[in-house]
Amino acid sequence: MTVDHKARKRFGQNFLIDQQIIAQIVSAVGAKAEDNLIEIGPGTAAITEHLVKTCPTMNLLELDRDLVDFLSKKFSDYPGLKITNGDALSTDFSEFYDGRQLRLVGNLPYNISTPLLFHLLTIGHLIKDMHFMLQREVVDRLGASPGNKTYGRLSVMIQYHCRVMPLIPVPPESFRPAPKVQSAVVRLKPHPTKPFIAENEILLSKLVNVCFQQRRKTLRNCLKPYADYLQQLESLIDLSKRPEQLSVSDFVTIANSVHQSMDVKK
Ligand code: SAH
Repeated sequence: MTVDHKARKRFGQNFLIDQQIIAQIVSAVGAKAEDNLIEIGPGTAAITEHLVKTCPTMNLLELDRDLVDFLSKKFSDYPGLKITNGDALSTDFSEFYDGRQLRLVGNLPYNISTPLLFHLLTIGHLIKDMHFMLQREVVDRLGASPGNKTYGRLSVMIQYHCRVMPLIPVPPESFRPAPKVQSAVVRLKPHPTKPFIAENEILLSKLVNVCFQQRRKTLRNCLKPYADYLQQLESLIDLSKRPEQLSVSDFVTIANSVHQSMDVKK
């Protein structure tokens, strides 16, 4: 069955046409029959038609109603495959949890990728892994180490929750229409046990934000809104460092120290 679907810009539609890249993605996912597999934005089923061969009970979540109709017809022979018409950003993914952790796959519209990642990390403990096609620049930021110029808020917050494995670089010609940017597939695996635990994750996120708003300044300067805590932080961390030089564990140390004295003050 073929599809005569005109790509819709407002839905961020860039369909994969490169069979070699598709095969690499399918092999990286390695879907098994017993997996709780969910594809976000299956589109015209470029990846889906391979995934269903080994996991015929997978879930599809697609925003474009026309494509949902197309997919329902295409997969009418798969009684176990479920198609939902919905927006990934407002979907409660915990509803897919049935005792089996979720495995998520998607060639996502690039404008929703960062908010979607943060949305998914709120249920990180229910997720086994994620394979996403993203803008290559975003994948670089996700996996960046301290000192790297792309290291920032996104790197710290994602690495706090997940192991990041950049897998497949993908050029614009692999899609129709071709996007203006380079892409890459990344695997994200939420830590089964977090290596560093922030006692207050909202505070961690606020501190990381404050720091990277002025990444060229010293920590002492960045942390002015937390002036009351600077003295105690001095013994834990070199405040003449810049935020881009700090590891995830350093940020967690700062957040926990501030959190503990906030508790004492209460
Ligand atoms: N996976 C297909 C399609 C990629 S294009 C392929 O690789 O060829 C991105 C897909 O995501 C489109 O099908 C688009 O309609 C869908 N989409 C866009 N925004 C979405 C959202 N918020 N939630 C779910 N699907 C979305």
